[in-house]
Amino acid sequence: MNKIPINKPSITELEINYVNDAITNGWGESCYDYIHKFEDAFKKYQRSSYAVATSSCTGAIHLALIGMGVQAGDEVIVPEITWIASVSPILYIGAKAVIVDVLEDTWCIDPAKIKNAITPKTKAILVAHIYGNVCEMDEIMIIAKEHNLKVLEDTAEGLGSEYKGEKCGSIGDIGVFSFHGTKTITTGEGGILVTNNETIYKKVRVLNDHGRNPEDPENKPYWMREYGYKYKMSNLQAALGLAQIERVEELVNNKIKIFNWYKDLLKDLPVSLNSQHTETKNSYWLPTVILPNNKDLDRNIFFAICKENGIDSRPLFYPLSSLPMFIPKKENTVAYNIYIRGINLPSFNDITFEEVTKVVGLLKEFLNSVA
Ligand SMILES: *Cc1c(COP(=O)(O)O)cnc(C)c1O
Repeated sequence: MNKIPINKPSITELEINYVNDAITNGWGESCYDYIHKFEDAFKKYQRSSYAVATSSCTGAIHLALIGMGVQAGDEVIVPEITWIASVSPILYIGAKAVIVDVLEDTWCIDPAKIKNAITPKTKAILVAHIYGNVCEMDEIMIIAKEHNLKVLEDTAEGLGSEYKGEKCGSIGDIGVFSFHGTKTITTGEGGILVTNNETIYKKVRVLNDHGRNPEDPENKPYWMREYGYKYKMSNLQAALGLAQIERVEELVNNKIKIFNWYKDLLKDLPVSLNSQHTETKNSYWLPTVILPNNKDLDRNIFFAICKENGIDSRPLFYPLSSLPMFIPKKENTVAYNIYIRGINLPSFNDITFEEVTKVVGLLKEFLNSVA
């Protein structure tokens, strides 16, 4: 039986050739060549002024928060539904993650709830374009401006998504992306930060490499003015990333094609899927269904059926505030109401229509089992 993974990278000759070149020639004086090429190609795709490649998106979020001036004791408003990596770096700094509810249709942060959560300690808003779905960027940017807050777009799952013709990740003050092996493009592990703010860029670039600053007037080897972090990406990873970003249109278009297969095959079923507003483009990183509100429909049963059939499926993220290190916020009713009914379905680049049909067949069987 052929296994159907939820995601896996698409690797072609191009990726292999670039990585081969990097591993053969990319040392010594050339050890930054692919990093710079990858950063240039990425910022061009994003139409952003600056890009800094990192070893993970989690690292990029940590640097972004420091770059935006978030300090211990500050508050950062975050959505109830996202991957833990969106908020862990807030805790690294000793700042507080203020968790607010999401919208019913996009499962992204609810702008009205952001407004209610602002206090004198609020420094920034972190929004996440979850599963490729797009946040309400106009409303979010207006609120941020009114209250003098910075906006960080966690676009780890939203590469290729757009809001009113602008690339997600390039609308707020900083955008971050992940190149983990499950994401739309990969570097094995890796991330990147983009911004149009030169001050933030200069600060982050120095912090990304132990505080080393090539522009320091006293620039001397092994002498630095401040301590930093070590989140920089390797040249090998960047070689893989360059090949992937050169193929990004193809990879994003495939995600959209796969989502549309699901949408078509599921159209008569009582489930809701990732949504897309008229002025947005959804890159559909993970096709996700929300089951109808019926307590007999236990998603764990569906996961067990999938496992038996060699199919990998995943639960929608638990509400962040339900995790043991936070205080539950049951008032975030949208998140608490949908998560238990949410299922992510396979969408790796080379999945076939027949495989998608098989997954949908099992979902239909599961839905009918309680009808
Ligand atoms: C994957 C992911 C991250 C973290 O990415 P890493 O590269 O694994 O650090 C952050 N936020 C979201 C929403 C993600 O899906």
